[in-house]
Amino acid sequence: MTLRAFESKARDVAWGFVGYERGMEQIDTLARIDADQAWAAVLRRDRAYDGRFVTGVLTTGIYCRPSCAARHPERHNVRFFADGAEARAAGLRPCKRCLPDDVARDEKAVLRAISAIKQAEETPLLADLAEKVGYSPSHFQRVFTRATGLSPAAYARALRAERAREALSTNGRVTEAIYDAGYESPSRFYEAMEGKLGMAPSAWARGGAGATIRWAVVETSLGSMLVAASGKGVCRLSFDEGPEALARRFPNAELVEGGADFAGLLQRVVAAVERPGNGHDIPLDVKGTAFQERVWAELRKIPKGETRTYAEIAAAAGNPGAVRAAGSANGANNVAVLIPCHRVIRSDGSLGGYAYGLDIKRELLAREKRV
Ligand SMILES: [Zn+2]
Repeated sequence: MTLRAFESKARDVAWGFVGYERGMEQIDTLARIDADQAWAAVLRRDRAYDGRFVTGVLTTGIYCRPSCAARHPERHNVRFFADGAEARAAGLRPCKRCLPDDVARDEKAVLRAISAIKQAEETPLLADLAEKVGYSPSHFQRVFTRATGLSPAAYARALRAERAREALSTNGRVTEAIYDAGYESPSRFYEAMEGKLGMAPSAWARGGAGATIRWAVVETSLGSMLVAASGKGVCRLSFDEGPEALARRFPNAELVEGGADFAGLLQRVVAAVERPGNGHDIPLDVKGTAFQERVWAELRKIPKGETRTYAEIAAAAGNPGAVRAAGSANGANNVAVLIPCHRVIRSDGSLGGYAYGLDIKRELLAREKRV
């Protein structure tokens, strides 16, 4: 499950490349870029738009990526082109600073490196990866990090962790899974997982075995709300859900209703739902793929009363091409409101979806605007 999510992320990168070749048609949220949107992206130096159009500057005769670090030209001297070929046909030359024609080459190089990392027994050295794709190591490190949000080494580590988690959740043989995933020893695996898995990996693999999860269903102004927490933090916040659903999610955990230890945390959670923006210090116990966890971290950075589009979240999580993957990471969020997936909307301004119904999403957004 988790490894598949990772592979679909790599596919999204590939898909972005295909889309580049076809000329900006691959993702409907990014396809219809009008001139105002394009200029706004240029002013933000938004890397998410690299490869989707180029900025031609009539006075200098040069065209750039939207994210070019050079000083911004005057708006009236700018024309937008679908790609470098169109800009060259209009008599412009590529900028030597941002190398706008290299976007496709960069994406191809990143994909080749990802596939090399996946096939390697041991983590490949940066120098070897860079040589394979024809870049200098330091330049390739930057290109790779820009595309995936992780350095090649961190990507390899994340991939290894994904494989171990995948193996754990399918066969539950902890030690074997850890060695199979390429760790030298179980202790190295637990070290790598420190701070990422609230429950021990063995507990996670067995539906929460060994973990005690406290829960309560409370009435709120948004309807009935389920709150559940492990010893590390809130692991489920949902609407219109009972303990049966929680038991299906954590079939082997010990589920305990209420309790004095839990009352204080529950009170803070309810307060954060009723008065949005107060929940930032509430501890969470959530797990997902590396990409999902980055998406969730980005969701927590959206200020209350504001919204972002799925494309913006994908870009903020380090992978502008992964709009659909960002959407499914949003949907895989276990802790509603505290990880504010309701603050993500479609690029046309419509609400998009919400696991607990659009009425709740609309109300959450409205009350955040009021306070
Ligand atoms: Zn440039």
